[in-house]
Amino acid sequence: MFMIFDRYMSRIPLIKHVWSTWVSFTTTFYPRVYFSDIKTWNDKPLASARTLQHEWVHLRDAETFFGLLPKKLRYLNVLLFTIAYVSPQVIALLAPLAMMLDPTHNYMWLLLLGALFPIPSPMRMYAEIRAYRRSRELGADVEHMTEAFTTMKYWKMWPFKQAVMKLLMETSPYKHEMDEVWQGHAKK
Ligand SMILES: [Zn+2]
Repeated sequence: MFMIFDRYMSRIPLIKHVWSTWVSFTTTFYPRVYFSDIKTWNDKPLASARTLQHEWVHLRDAETFFGLLPKKLRYLNVLLFTIAYVSPQVIALLAPLAMMLDPTHNYMWLLLLGALFPIPSPMRMYAEIRAYRRSRELGADVEHMTEAFTTMKYWKMWPFKQAVMKLLMETSPYKHEMDEVWQGHAKK
C-alpha cells in the first residue's frame, strides 16, 4: 500500500507528521500532508490512501493555482491559492490597519472584522469540490461529504445542499493520471 503513496508523492514531497493528539483531521500545507495520527495511517491504509488522494488534488491545485498557472511559479501559486482558500474571512486581517489609518470615525475596521462570520466562500468551495470529487470517485458518501460544505466544519463555505450534491457528481480534475497510479497498483 505504501507504494501508492510513494508514487504519488514522488512528484510532491510528503512528510507524515503526527501534529497533535487533539486535532483529528487531515490537512495540507503545501508541500506537506498532515495526518492527525500515525495509528490511522497504519491501521487503515486503504482509507488513508483515499484521503491522501483528496489532499493530493489540493496540493496540485495549490502548486498550479487550479491548473491555470505554470508550475515554475509555484510559490506565487501557493500564495494565491491560500488567499483564495481563506477568503473572504482573511480580509479581517486588514482590520488593524484600517483602525490605525483612521482611528477616529472610520468604521471600516468593523466591516472588515465582519468578514470573520461564516459567509459563503466561493473559492474554498471550488477547491474542496475538486478534491471531494476525487473522494466520491473512490467511494465516499455524497450525503456525508455535502456536510463539509453546509455545516460549520469548513465555516459554512457553501450552504446550498442541492447545488453541492450536483457539483460533486462531476469528474475530478486529475482523474486520468491518478487512476493510472491507483488502478495500476490495484492490479498487482
Ligand atoms: Zn479538502
